Amino acid sequence: MRTAIYPGSFDPVTCGHLDIIKRAARLFDKLIVLVSVNPTKASCFTPEERVDFIKRVTVNIPNIEVDSYDGLLIDYFNLKKADVIVKGLRAMSDFEYEFQMALVNKDLCYKAETVFLCADVVGTFLSSSMVKQIALFDGDISSYVPLEIERDIMKGVKRLKKSEKD
Ligand code: ADP
Repeated sequence: MRTAIYPGSFDPVTCGHLDIIKRAARLFDKLIVLVSVNPTKASCFTPEERVDFIKRVTVNIPNIEVDSYDGLLIDYFNLKKADVIVKGLRAMSDFEYEFQMALVNKDLCYKAETVFLCADVVGTFLSSSMVKQIALFDGDISSYVPLEIERDIMKGVKRLKKSEKD
């Protein structure tokens, strides 16, 4: 049984992430989508909300588990006895950072192989930050996020805008 972990901020999950999730779920017996919690990085959605969004949009994929973790990815990897770390690559700009992470993870744990999946054509320019930026100005995010969570993303971004004003 091959277990893969797909880690990220997923703040929030986008159609680009979902494309990687679907393709990785076909490649491995089990895929854990892991919301990495980084207390030093400001986020729009709580880890619980981010996990809930991912669960809602992957409800029809049977071999998926969604979790969150606030420690080192490699510790979680060992805890779950996983085989592979999956990462999505959008452009060369992603590559340098992801390459460095893959090497560090392999150095920390020799069996930790990273598999890169190339983003699809639309996903190549899509990021969670871009979605939040468009939502903040009431733009149309319907092509970029799954329909089931679109309204909650709009609400969450507005909540953030309001709390920053107060
Ligand atoms: P973001 O940069 O959008 O905040 P995350 O930290 O949540 O992304 O990214 C988690 C993983 O998903 C990373 O491997 C990242 O390269 C990949 N990823 C992010 N957005 C996309 C996309 N639109 N298409 C494919 N992969 C993506």
